[in-house]
Amino acid sequence: MTGGGVRAVVRKLRGKTIEIKSNGELDAMRAAGAVVASTLTLLEGAARPGVSTAELDESAEQSIRDAGAVPSFLGYHGFPGSICTSVNHQIVHGIPDPEQVLADGDLLSIDCGAILDGWHGDAAVTIEVGAVGETDRKLSAACRSALHAGIEAAQPGGRLTDISHTVESAVLAAAAVDGVEYGIVADYGGHGIGTAMHMDPFLPNIGKPGRGPRLVAGMALAIEPMLTAGSHLTEELDDGWTVVTLDRSRAVHWEHTVAITPDGPVVLTTS
Ligand code: MG
Ligand code: MG
Repeated sequence: MTGGGVRAVVRKLRGKTIEIKSNGELDAMRAAGAVVASTLTLLEGAARPGVSTAELDESAEQSIRDAGAVPSFLGYHGFPGSICTSVNHQIVHGIPDPEQVLADGDLLSIDCGAILDGWHGDAAVTIEVGAVGETDRKLSAACRSALHAGIEAAQPGGRLTDISHTVESAVLAAAAVDGVEYGIVADYGGHGIGTAMHMDPFLPNIGKPGRGPRLVAGMALAIEPMLTAGSHLTEELDDGWTVVTLDRSRAVHWEHTVAITPDGPVVLTTS
């Protein structure tokens, strides 16, 4: 899931405390992250035309519980699913639905979180259902490469918005190569993570470098760019959850939980 809301950012940037983990605690987070990673791998294989997002949700919950973990999204502020499934113009926080059946060419973003031994992992992928168009493939690739650029920017001794700036710069570079403009969603972003899913600090996906808290070993951040093929403006649907693009352009979302270590960033949501 995403951290949320520009208004919340301003509040949170004042007087925040950031959880610092020991090496053993980061190992525990890596175990939680592995559950998330294996569940997403399972879903990547299962997301085919004709499959509903509710079926994927059932598979995800089973995978998480089989690993001895708990789906962190289920019941989170009343969220009814174990994963978020956001299709096409839905950006994030989409609710799994038996009526929502995947079709060839859909872009499906799946956000997954798990708690294992009290520690959280949180990651998201955008899946190409069947054969998607070239522009959609490029959009998703741009977001994924921006995520990885952002991860590389999570260096001890740096500052939080070094990550934000690197993500933004990577998106702009990809857009230049692709000959298009991508919208970078600013209403939602990354977050600290550890003993809770959403912790300080909020991590924007745009901004000037060199600002915000200093990055130190033992911090863990969910880094999660969201891009659109059009406007960056968003709207929340009447279901109280699903965030869509205001112009109904397609959207993508990639996320990893990342630890900052003395040797640099380490992705925790990997198998
Ligand atoms: Mg998140
Ligand atoms: Mg997430």
